[in-house]
Amino acid sequence: MPPLLSKSKYLHGLQCPKLLWYEYNRKADVPQAGPMMQNVFDEGRKVGALAHELFPGGIIVERDRSPQTTHSRSLLALKERQPLFEAGFVYKNAYALADILVPVEEDQWDLIEVKSSTSVKDDHLYDAAFQKYTYSGAGVKIRNCYIMYINKEYVKQGEIEPDKLFIRQNVTAEANERIKEIEAEIDSLQKVIAQKDIPDIKVGPQCGYPDGCPLIPLCWSFLPDEEHIFILYAGGQHRYDLMERGVLKVTDIPADYELDPKQTIQLKSHKSGKTHIDKRKIKGFLKTLKYPYYFLDFETIATPIPIFDGTSPYQAVPFQYSLFVIENEGAEPKHFGYLAPGDVDPRIEILKQLKELLGTGGSIIAYSAPFEIGCLRRSADYFTEYQEWFISIENRFVDLLLPFQKFFYYSPDQAGRASLKSVLPAITHSSYDGLEIAQGGLASSEYARVTFGKDIDPADKERVRHALELYCDQDTRGMIEILAVLKSSVAK
Ligand code: SF4
Repeated sequence: MPPLLSKSKYLHGLQCPKLLWYEYNRKADVPQAGPMMQNVFDEGRKVGALAHELFPGGIIVERDRSPQTTHSRSLLALKERQPLFEAGFVYKNAYALADILVPVEEDQWDLIEVKSSTSVKDDHLYDAAFQKYTYSGAGVKIRNCYIMYINKEYVKQGEIEPDKLFIRQNVTAEANERIKEIEAEIDSLQKVIAQKDIPDIKVGPQCGYPDGCPLIPLCWSFLPDEEHIFILYAGGQHRYDLMERGVLKVTDIPADYELDPKQTIQLKSHKSGKTHIDKRKIKGFLKTLKYPYYFLDFETIATPIPIFDGTSPYQAVPFQYSLFVIENEGAEPKHFGYLAPGDVDPRIEILKQLKELLGTGGSIIAYSAPFEIGCLRRSADYFTEYQEWFISIENRFVDLLLPFQKFFYYSPDQAGRASLKSVLPAITHSSYDGLEIAQGGLASSEYARVTFGKDIDPADKERVRHALELYCDQDTRGMIEILAVLKSSVAK
């Protein structure tokens, strides 16, 4: 008997049959979700639970390890004619669990898939089609299919209002359109699962769409460790074309291959092994800086269900800042910081402290400054007593990303990237090595876990908070070092 194909496996198979094959034949080789991904799943579960509130009297169908048992339980539950959550049905080789089934008309049901995204995506339509195919095949009369997703315009005030947080879109026509192909697709995916050999599929754009594939470390391991073709800046499809031509290293790109100006700088730098320094442009950038220097970095959380009043889904809310102040040339940096305890809205405290610390003159230096500016602007939009102050400081921001994004400075050790995480270790002696938290996404998910999670061990919380402080400090300290490198590069 061929194995049953669940909805998630079907979608994985559509993304890449090789991924599907591994999931059935070499499951141990598929890396498990890390803490960041785990956080996404947890947030998704919260969104699902909140959606249930829109259907009072709904019944959760208890899932069994055996799909057939879940199928039998779900058939029984249908008789109640109440909204059903997680009802599961088997039809031929497909097994589907729908988020919500709502009784309509005399004997029909509306099928609702709940998503944490802020729009309906293409794969959601395949998802709805697979559900409808399976349910209809199992004898459940489906009237309409809906995707229920997050309304990004929603603004929390007081208790969350699920009827305003969610938008419901009828996708019945799109699902019906796709259903025609499903049976053939399932047959073909079953053949893939049953085959002895690993499907011969080359790496390609499918590795990152619609989701990042967990097998990337395995499938992409054929690339050289350094200077591989995928570090080509803004390389897009060119990288795949070059790979097809057997070019695996940037240094092997043929001389007649058309590159844009930034890529040309990059290639020259990798071929020569030398850092590209455009002194005139760097000097121009440095001239925009004025003492005192304020090096500022935020860490933020952005959840689908807003936590604080006046915020919207996925709005980046700062919970931590690190600030180094250098009063004048040669002065010792002074450090200030704040990490919110979690029981109050962090924005008001951050606004209050920064208003005192940022003074009235001098440059506020951030890496990807529009992000910090946006956090402050939205905070001041809500706490309106800070609006005037925000307007007075907005023009003092300087983006330290700029000289790297525009390739005024490029070291081959940056490997085609301009992010702080790449530039810092490439051009200074500092790095994020040894830090327990070394990435913004992890900072956010770990903060959310220890601050809003249940039954958190106080020692675990303390450890994470300490790691967050080290991490945010490192970002700001790193900016000081990067600026020093830029200055010395034009002083020679
Ligand atoms: S990394 Fe790419 S080629 Fe490999 S299984 Fe995933 S999607 Fe397929």
